[in-house]
Amino acid sequence: DFPILSEQVHGHPLVYLDNSATTQVPSQVLDAVANHYRTSNANVHRGMHYLAHASTDALEHAREVVARFVNAPSVDCVVFTRGTTDGLNMVARGLSHLLQPGDAVVVSRLEHHSNYVPWQQACFSCGARFEVADLTPEGDIDEEDYARLLSAGNVKIVAMTGCSNVLGTVTPVARLARMAHEAGALFVLDGAQIMRHGVVGMQSLGVDYLAFSGHKMMAGTGIGALAGTREALEELEPRDFGGEMVDKVTAARTTWEELPLRLEAGTPNYVGAIALGAACDYLSALGREDIAAYEASLVDHAEAALGEVEGLHIAGSPKERAGLVSFTIDDVHPLDLCTLVDARGVALRSGHNCAQPVLEWLGATSVARLSPAFYNTPAEIDYAVEQISRAAKMLHTARRRG
Ligand code: PLP
Repeated sequence: DFPILSEQVHGHPLVYLDNSATTQVPSQVLDAVANHYRTSNANVHRGMHYLAHASTDALEHAREVVARFVNAPSVDCVVFTRGTTDGLNMVARGLSHLLQPGDAVVVSRLEHHSNYVPWQQACFSCGARFEVADLTPEGDIDEEDYARLLSAGNVKIVAMTGCSNVLGTVTPVARLARMAHEAGALFVLDGAQIMRHGVVGMQSLGVDYLAFSGHKMMAGTGIGALAGTREALEELEPRDFGGEMVDKVTAARTTWEELPLRLEAGTPNYVGAIALGAACDYLSALGREDIAAYEASLVDHAEAALGEVEGLHIAGSPKERAGLVSFTIDDVHPLDLCTLVDARGVALRSGHNCAQPVLEWLGATSVARLSPAFYNTPAEIDYAVEQISRAAKMLHTARRRG
């Protein structure tokens, strides 16, 4: 289903293990996109001609599919966005009217910059406190510290990830959300990583907002969604103004459309939305629980194989890890390592992975990350680990020789 996986890179078969950054796109999704442009393309929610209806119907069908996929309270509780970062910024900006000096927003030290900086900036501009829940030595959210921050009072918003893109920590979302609600705060879930690794039922988790990205779940780039409870989405002040998000416009006053259009100013990325719907259908047909179980076995396999490499340190040992293993190797820079394994066809990620607070917690400025998806195999992981080991030896030898 994934044509790109047959590519050769640098003369070697591609072993793509950078799925936490972006997943590949199956033919079914590529076909849905090409088919829309071939047969149904027109702007949505505007025209009255045949194609305008066909295009609008396809977009709204995609919204229904996505709403079912995340168990949103209703179809109009799904807003299409450019991705997780866009959705989180939309919420941070849209809720800033709730923040007064003395109020607080709580995040965790696990957060990607996308779920950290928007809240920090909102707090700076509103005079609110920006609080960061610490981690246990294993890399789980320290729930005592979280409870302590909540008990300080005036916490209006909690924003946390479902899965860390550095440690792979799966967070206890339902409990964290319940604790936030008991403290009177709204709970925002960064679903970027968890969407592919768990069956994320918005309503059963009890979150107020869920932001996620299509390109991390086989849909391709430029699209994502923000799902929320009706009440929570209605609380958002529109961040963007323009076409289709308005009801009545006069020089004196403008009124807004109903949800979700109120939060989708301008021509939406409707083909992206159709791709996201097709990706949700694809994942559902494969079986989300089966995918999660198989990917968990790949992560266990990677953890065990990497553990055999001399001088290699796996980042964190959370209670539950999903999707990835990050690591460092003594006297090896992750960038050098990833460059050398790339020459053998293996795609890994290196760097701070847009999560400097957790890198600081690790005492590192950079890590290497191996992140499999359901189209990877244990044999590919073994090959990658063999190449990692070989590259580390080469780098150690080079270092010894000066
Ligand atoms: N949150 C987490 C946990 C992520 O891993 C990422 C991307 O890596 C993001 C947010 C941001 O996603 P995007 O770049 O698609 O907006």
